[in-house]
Amino acid sequence: MVSLTPNKGAGRTFFVADLHLTDERPAATGRFFRFLLEDAAGADALYILGDLFEAWVGDDHNEQVAHDTARQLKTLIDSGTPVFFMHGNRDFMLAGRYAALSGMTLIGDPTRIDLYGEPTLLMHGDTLCSDDTAYQSFRSWVRRPLILALLRRLPLSLRRRMARQARAGSESAKAGKSAEIMDVNTREVARMLQAQQVCRIIHGHTHRPAKHTLVVNGHPCERWVVPDWYTRCGYVVCDSAGCALNVEDL
Ligand code: MN
Repeated sequence: MVSLTPNKGAGRTFFVADLHLTDERPAATGRFFRFLLEDAAGADALYILGDLFEAWVGDDHNEQVAHDTARQLKTLIDSGTPVFFMHGNRDFMLAGRYAALSGMTLIGDPTRIDLYGEPTLLMHGDTLCSDDTAYQSFRSWVRRPLILALLRRLPLSLRRRMARQARAGSESAKAGKSAEIMDVNTREVARMLQAQQVCRIIHGHTHRPAKHTLVVNGHPCERWVVPDWYTRCGYVVCDSAGCALNVEDL
């Protein structure tokens, strides 16, 4: 039994995304487990805003990191900190079986929460990159319930091969796209904030950790981008006084 530091994180809520956990990068996994024990323990909640895993081909995904992560999350949740999970573009096939195993609660993209009195919008962030029309059409095709149901019925080995091909395809497509196309469209951000009646958004996906300020309908608003865990790591943490971004070397 791992002992957690009691109440260290009480009154705070953590947001992470883009950990891209895989057996191939054990340093990031080790750092994430330390974050769960040392930072997230005792917090009011932990939100994982997508791309927890480098790839997820179904809940029969059998990398060691999947089993270890479920166990670590379960320990945190059993100690009283709920963990919420939103799909990213890498792990949108994560479903109820793994959620039950790890104890995580699946939430939709976008999700609007009341964060210590401040309405806050949570997103993975890929849908904000609306200039990347090729990606957006692929995304809406692959997320159709019928397509997802068909994908889930394919043999594991075939799904693995397809995931590898999709990653290679996305890498070569990215090489031909400008940095602006792969970042969020600021008009789309403003439109979402307005539509959801919030003045704060927290998202990941772009791997460009930052706090941005923008004015929507005359109101100063905040956009927080959580870091990826490739060569660095970190989180956004919020309490009743506001949010802060923490980025460290891995
Ligand atoms: Mn992503």
